[in-house]
Amino acid sequence: MKSLKDIYIFIGPPGSGKGSLSHLCKKSFGWAHLSTGNLCRQHIARMTDIGLQIDQAIKSGKLISDDLMIDMVNQWIKEVALSSQGIILDGFPRTVSQAKALDDLFSQKEFVDASVTIVSMNINDEQVINRLKTRLVCQNEACQAVYSFLPSQVSKGLTCQECKDVLIQRVDDNSDVVYERLKTYHHYADDLLVYYRNSVCKVIDLNVELPLDYVFKTFVESTGKST
Ligand SMILES: [Zn+2]
Repeated sequence: MKSLKDIYIFIGPPGSGKGSLSHLCKKSFGWAHLSTGNLCRQHIARMTDIGLQIDQAIKSGKLISDDLMIDMVNQWIKEVALSSQGIILDGFPRTVSQAKALDDLFSQKEFVDASVTIVSMNINDEQVINRLKTRLVCQNEACQAVYSFLPSQVSKGLTCQECKDVLIQRVDDNSDVVYERLKTYHHYADDLLVYYRNSVCKVIDLNVELPLDYVFKTFVESTGKST
């Protein structure tokens, strides 16, 4: 029986290409990709138990608790990804306390053969801001494909290649909000990376300012896999 072998945790600011790189890994290796942001939005849209709790936390201005996030990730892995060769966690953990909770989850017997690799995706803040200005996402909650355009290509009425639904800008990609998101990101990610660099996990540093195909090639080489 196949079992989960490789767990990759992508740590990078919004707009660093976590989704695009994940998409290539999914296509090339059949890995499962968990974007916790997308999963939260799906749970809310479907009004699941978890979704209702997340919705309530957001509406009351609270952070989603670590326990709730871990429950959601655990449920996803067990329902979707336990038979995958590899999985990518994108957007989780964000804090050291979430990382510790995740360590506890991975110490369970289902994960005895799995190895955890941290992928630190490095990009300058100015580049992030420029990228997010031209990033559009599919409005279909079940799809949420992400597209990067050149400024001259952005126009109204662009549609998704996967599902033909309409592409929109995410409200939190608007530049005022982006500065806040970057500040929050650095606040937590710096500690998180220190935590992982002092752990038994392998940490890969990836320069993601370069074109995506080059980033993918470098990533694959650093994992020791071949396409
Ligand atoms: Zn779509």
